[in-house]
Amino acid sequence: MVVRFFFSLAFLVFSQCHPRPKTDTYKRMPVAKRLDTEIPILCYHNIKSSIDHHAPLLTVTDSVFRVQIKMLHDSGYHTILPDQLYHYLTKGSALPSRPIMITFDDSHEEHYSVAAKELEKYGFRGVFFVITVAIDKPHYLTHQEIKALSDEGHTVACHTYDHPMLTKLPDDQWSRQIDKPRELLEKITGRPVDYFAYPFGGWNQRAVDEIKKRGIKAAFQLSEKQSATDPLFTIRRIMVSDVWSTAKLSEEIHAAFNRNLLAYSTKQKTKML
Ligand SMILES: [Zn+2]
Repeated sequence: MVVRFFFSLAFLVFSQCHPRPKTDTYKRMPVAKRLDTEIPILCYHNIKSSIDHHAPLLTVTDSVFRVQIKMLHDSGYHTILPDQLYHYLTKGSALPSRPIMITFDDSHEEHYSVAAKELEKYGFRGVFFVITVAIDKPHYLTHQEIKALSDEGHTVACHTYDHPMLTKLPDDQWSRQIDKPRELLEKITGRPVDYFAYPFGGWNQRAVDEIKKRGIKAAFQLSEKQSATDPLFTIRRIMVSDVWSTAKLSEEIHAAFNRNLLAYSTKQKTKML
């Protein structure tokens, strides 16, 4: 069968704005304010030994990845997981100092063999958004690796069955793309799967409504403007480029994440695999 996520094009919007607030302000904000407050969230796709034909936003080399993760550790960041973010946003639960979330989309095999191993060196934990059609396919995560990620304290989350653009999804496909993949991931991990990432970062109100009514707790896009009415279902992330120095990554984190729903000024177009 033709897998939809291969050779698709996506148009991604990147954000820049004002410096984010100091870390300790996170704990003191009232709930309404926190829903406007962004925690930095990074998004990685491929991690390879070389960039090859890939765009730098869709692939980082393993050497660059190692340097970037070490920089985050050396800068005092602490990784958080979606449950922590959810409880912080909805109940005001405390977060560690310099919180950051590190996410991985499309269930590439190196997410287990390279990324998780690197995160482990620093006691970091990540979020792995899985496309279930790819499970056990060459170069993608296996059942066993997904189970191991979950057992090691990472979060396994849903990224649909075969990566369609949800803004154009036929009415009869929602269960196939959300309910069934979620059930499979829960069966594999033995844990609830409560979080979701939109393929290509693409969402609209219809997609938000379908996800909400299925009991997903929060959903992640890329860096488009958040929904003013559903910020929990349009949480923003930035894709990390291979060509960014550690100083540039640090600058991008500070620039992109702040408490401003209108935060975007840099548009970038790339090819999505
Ligand atoms: Zn994806």
